[in-house]
Amino acid sequence: MKALQLVAANDLQLKEVEIPKVGENEVLCKVWSTSICGTDQHIIDNYYPGYWPKSFPIILGHEWSGEIVELGKNSDKFGWNVGDRVAGIANVGCGHCKNCLEGRWTICLNYGKKDIHQMYGHITNGAYAEYISVSIKSIAKVPDDMSHNLAACMDPISIALHMIERSGLKIGEDVLINGSGAQGLYSVILAKAMGANRIFISGSGSRLMKGAELGAIPIDYKKENVVDYIMEATDGLGVMRVFECTGTELGINQACHVVSRGGCISTISLPKDDVKIPIRQIVLDEIDLHGSRANPNTLPRAILVADQHIEALDSMITHVFSIEDYQKAFSIFNGRLEDSLKVVIKPNGFEK
Ligand SMILES: [Zn+2]
Ligand SMILES: [Zn+2]
Repeated sequence: MKALQLVAANDLQLKEVEIPKVGENEVLCKVWSTSICGTDQHIIDNYYPGYWPKSFPIILGHEWSGEIVELGKNSDKFGWNVGDRVAGIANVGCGHCKNCLEGRWTICLNYGKKDIHQMYGHITNGAYAEYISVSIKSIAKVPDDMSHNLAACMDPISIALHMIERSGLKIGEDVLINGSGAQGLYSVILAKAMGANRIFISGSGSRLMKGAELGAIPIDYKKENVVDYIMEATDGLGVMRVFECTGTELGINQACHVVSRGGCISTISLPKDDVKIPIRQIVLDEIDLHGSRANPNTLPRAILVADQHIEALDSMITHVFSIEDYQKAFSIFNGRLEDSLKVVIKPNGFEK
């Protein structure tokens, strides 16, 4: 089968490889759509040496959707059938450690241990491939009216949902979403669905305009001081929940300065280097700072919410390419060219 394999750091190649064997609690899926994630390029660039990936070669891709074509020995007992349309996510916990048993399997205590833990497209072969064999713990069924391309975005959408849930958002609270990339824009839809009052979003350009189109109050961080804007709009109180999706020192510090006393910053951003934060203020104002990793148990509910916002979410998928055109796909995505947002690769070509 065709697959995009990272053969060494900075060396992604379209290769012919074996179709993977299906394990007993796994399913073999024909991959229809794989969405490019910012993390893919970080892995290619060797941002996390020895961590993502642990070794080469590895097939990348972790935001995907497809169709079950073969069942592992036990998979039918859990209700899976050949022909099921599914969305997949990256993480699978070991299922047996304390954190996994408490439902927090994205912080599995056996993270990265060979044979008992998988993370597709990071340390386990992923979905830029015609086929992927995955644990049934890492997939959920998708409704008939949801396209494969949108289903491939359910990994990041369910990550945004986890970030918002970690913040403890209550109905009627004002929020700031820092960053108007895909995660920020997904968060607008989710925060609205979860009853946020005013949703401010910081960003710039066409992505920020998209946020406004989705109903958020846009703040162009290149023209306005985000902290001043929020303080003015909230009579100096700040917002109760901040969702930090920029991964920049500026964004993280802004988050610390716009959050209300007793409020919460929930972050999914992974800055390249650690950044300084005003810890004295965090202590004195009892600010909760929540790291938020991936999507433990949010995928099925994220699919239900997404199914009510199909048009808005589809409009964020700006480019679709065959797997042969992967270099063009990555350059458009990485360069944010042509107002690109989510860029999808089709390992099995385009559906009829
Ligand atoms: Zn991703
Ligand atoms: Zn575990």
